[in-house]
This record gives sequence, structure tokens and C-alpha cells, in this order.
Amino acid sequence: MQWRGRRESSNVEDARGDSQGFGGGRGRGGLGLLMLVGRLFGIKGILVVVVVAGVLWATGLVSPNSLIRFLSDGSVPAETAVVSPQDQERFDFVKVVLADSEDIWTAQFAAHGKRYVLPVMKVYRGQVQTACGTGSAAAGPFYCPEDQKVYIDLSFYDELAQTFHSPGDFAQAYVIAHEVGHHVQKLLGTSDKVAAMRDRPDYNQYSVRLELQADFYAGVWANHSKHYLERGDIEEAMRAANAIGDDAIQQQMKGRIVPHSFTHGTSAQRMRWFKKGLDSGRMDDGDTFSIAYDAL
Ligand SMILES: [Zn+2]
Repeated sequence: MQWRGRRESSNVEDARGDSQGFGGGRGRGGLGLLMLVGRLFGIKGILVVVVVAGVLWATGLVSPNSLIRFLSDGSVPAETAVVSPQDQERFDFVKVVLADSEDIWTAQFAAHGKRYVLPVMKVYRGQVQTACGTGSAAAGPFYCPEDQKVYIDLSFYDELAQTFHSPGDFAQAYVIAHEVGHHVQKLLGTSDKVAAMRDRPDYNQYSVRLELQADFYAGVWANHSKHYLERGDIEEAMRAANAIGDDAIQQQMKGRIVPHSFTHGTSAQRMRWFKKGLDSGRMDDGDTFSIAYDAL
């Protein structure tokens, strides 16, 4: 996918540096650490630590402020949280993908006389507080309808490439386009309707329909991004849709498939609805609620 040099969304919150503790966070301050070193290695140990800290300070590898802060409470300020070049590249990439989705959905809504309210994407690490509760990177990227934000820990892309064998930038973009699809559903009132059915015994089926529609919307996004596609991109996205279907994930996690606990649809269903969106490019063609459940 061609993305470098293109518009980046400004609706992105960078929370990658938040809640980064040193060795498990606050509690043991830098002075506590020194005392521990002293107990274990004697005065020589303390001297070594002090010299190392001095060198880090003198060479500018660590700013004086963050060193003082570490010595006082053991925390590492956000600005010194390590961001690798790969991490930064992914960050720039997701900003372009979000910007793309903003343009596409603004036009789609406008064609229906509706206004598309732009979602915010929050990029975090590990854990994050949301209006829907505490989010964890272990669950993969998600959308919270309560605050209308898409949450992503960029390390999910390692998992996508390794555990789910879906490398490639277009696979990564598809994952975001799916979450933005949930935002579209929120604005259209679809997700609220489904949420209202939470207590029904067949709620799971509505949840699957909602998920497949989000895949359809991801396909609509792909249709309008065709211009930037490179050879193999669609296959990348299809592979991701295939890899992260509920049956594939359950196979991976438990070694068996339990259909009644599906909430996202099978791999085949996810690929089919993504493809439908890709072929159509029109949001109206993604009614996953009117057709029979077996025909999805
Ligand atoms: Zn989803």
C-alpha cells in the first residue's frame, strides 16, 4: 500500500508513553534501588551505579530531569519512553489509514445527507482506560462506542504477523478499517440496536451480524483506497480476515472449534463480507441483518 507522504489524521492520541513504569512501575524509587544494590554488592556496587548514572547524564543519553525523577520516585517520564523506529513508522502509518477512512466515510455519509463525526484513535501500550472500562492489548484493537474511540496497541501487529501469519501493511490497515466500521455502526445507530438485544438468548447471532458488517465496511474502505493498492494487498487483507475469524482464533487458542461461542463470524464469512464491501464500495449494500443467519 502506498502511504508515505500522504495526509495523516490529526485525530490521533499518542498514549504510548503513559503508565510506563520502571521495573513494574512506582513503588521502589531510585534511592530504594541504590540501597538494594548496596545490600547486595556493598559500597562498590553503589559507586558503580552512581558512575553509570553520571555517564548517562554527562553523555546526554538520559536527560538530567528524568534521572532526578527516577531517583526520587522510580518512574520514567513519558518523553523518555522508548519508541523504536519500527514503532514510529507504524504510528505514522495508522495516522494515514485513519485519514483515509475520514475522507471516505465523510463522502459516504454526505451522499446520504448525513454528517460523519470523526472518531479518535488512541494508540497505547499494554493497558488503557476507556469509557468502556479498562482495555488490554491482549484483546487486540477495539472500538469503544461510549467515547467513540478506536484503541490500538501497535504491538498487535507483531501478533498479526507471527501468531496469525498475516504480515503486510494492508493487513494492518484492514484491522483499523474494521474498527472504524464499528464507529460507522455507532453513528448509524446499528450498534445501539444490537446492544439493546444483549439479554436475548440469540444475542450472539446479532453480534456476529454486527461484526460481519464491520468487515463489509472495511471492504468499502478498501474499494475507495484502490488507488493506493499495490500487488498482493487485497490478498494480505483477506489473509488477515481469514486468520482472525473466530473459528481460526479458537483453533489457535484451544485446538478446537465451538460454534455457539462465535462472536465475529467464521473466517469464510469474514472474507466473504470484506469482499462484498470491496466489490460494492457502497455502504448500503452491507445489510447483514435482513438475511437468514445460515446464509451470511
Ligand atoms: Zn469487530
